[in-house]
Amino acid sequence: MNANLVAIFLSRHAGHEAKPALIWNGETVCTFGELPARIGQYRAALIALGVKRGDRVMVKAENSPHFALTYLAVLAVGATFVPLNPAYTPSEVALLVEDADPVLLVHSSATAVPPAQDGIARATLEADGSGSLSQLAAQLAPDLAVEAMAETDLAAILFTSGTTGRPKGAMLMHRNLSSNVAALHEAWRFSDADSILHTLPLFHAHGLFVALHLGLYSAATVHLLGRFDAAKVVALLPTVSVFMGVPTFYTRLLDRADFTREITANIRLFVCGSAPLLPSVFTAFEERTGQRILERYGMTEAVMITSNRYEQDGRIAGTVGYPLPGVELRVVGGEGRQELPPGEVGEVEIRGPNLCAGYWRRPEATAEAIGPDGFFVTGDTGFRDASGRLTIAGRSKDLIISGGFNIYPAELEMVLADVEGVTDVAIIGVPHPDFGEAVVALVTAAQPDMDPAVIEAVAAEKLARFKQPKAIRIVPEFPRNAMGKVLKADLRKAYANLFTA
Ligand code: AMP
Repeated sequence: MNANLVAIFLSRHAGHEAKPALIWNGETVCTFGELPARIGQYRAALIALGVKRGDRVMVKAENSPHFALTYLAVLAVGATFVPLNPAYTPSEVALLVEDADPVLLVHSSATAVPPAQDGIARATLEADGSGSLSQLAAQLAPDLAVEAMAETDLAAILFTSGTTGRPKGAMLMHRNLSSNVAALHEAWRFSDADSILHTLPLFHAHGLFVALHLGLYSAATVHLLGRFDAAKVVALLPTVSVFMGVPTFYTRLLDRADFTREITANIRLFVCGSAPLLPSVFTAFEERTGQRILERYGMTEAVMITSNRYEQDGRIAGTVGYPLPGVELRVVGGEGRQELPPGEVGEVEIRGPNLCAGYWRRPEATAEAIGPDGFFVTGDTGFRDASGRLTIAGRSKDLIISGGFNIYPAELEMVLADVEGVTDVAIIGVPHPDFGEAVVALVTAAQPDMDPAVIEAVAAEKLARFKQPKAIRIVPEFPRNAMGKVLKADLRKAYANLFTA
């Protein structure tokens, strides 16, 4: 059997030929019946530009249907798709080009790229279809072949967000992607009756491998937008059945008076992930809509790892649920990295068909991350309850050690975010002459003149003394990356001299 993900998708569309596969800004791009020919035209264009099986194609562009078709065509050729965040600067792109060694760099005119290099073809991809790749595809007869691939052949290399250090390319195999979408399809009860409102960036695993893949695998229509726009989302929600987002999408929806229970009456599933969802947002969402957000946990290297249960009462605030079918998860600690009992915080490790083959051309980084027994060190800390349900405590590098005590930022963030008037909290550790590190709470508030003493009082009441912040600062906003993750390294740098100046 052909393990090419595109072959798997196309094999599931029989009987849905007349149904829209992709809708872009309200207009049908193609039906499921037309999809093979649209992919086939892009496949022909890629081949005309010299792309062959096993080559890498780098794409740096904003969301568009042409982006999605290019992705599928790269896989159909048997090449490896390498998406880049459009926000990368030319010098960042130059490093990644050198690392990934692509034969073709496809980019939009709005994104910056380094000067052309010998041996790397160029093409443009614009959201309105005017790019050279789309123009070429439109002139060519569709090449309907889908290269036969093995399960362990590479499908994509995604550079991890790399908020610190040099980005590493996670090598995703066809098997990683097909097993994960099948697990999500079942866990989240997808069917051909669904339609998905997709506003996540396609260059990231969440937008590409979760939202887009679920539509293609389920023969469910995907309504794609260029980016999250709260007003557009409110207008479109009554026409779809599923919405996927990152926590900031949900807070922005809740900020709007026109985001109501009626607007969401059609939706059977709101999914959230990529960053922790505050219980206060989960609760406010339930109060407003009568629905619970289903939180899941994943990462570029392993796509989706855990999920809350589908049933409304299986969706619990502050936890990320249970490993997906086929995924093994353990929480380890201590010198021997032994498995810890329920309730104890340690490092989260995983193994399964979702786990990538390692880091592109970085054997040492791969050996550091994936142990001899095949378990991958996620870099996240957390604990499981007696039933195995996982709660994330934070990134292990965000762990704060103050006066010899371990402090997990996520725990403090959840407690302080519950304080009346507080909208969000970021906890960091900064150098301190007595304690080694000191806890600093950075807080965004509904009123910018909020008195930090109110937060201090709650901290004193609810948190052990060693966990209480040594400083609280009300700030207008946090620096975040494209997926809404707070850039803690930037915050640590900004507050590095608070106690040591
Ligand atoms: P990325 O590779 O960009 O998808 O980032 C993966 C990281 O995002 C994980 O290692 C976690 O630190 C974080 N993350 C993803 N989902 C969640 C979640 N539901 N709660 C807390 N952190 C999350």
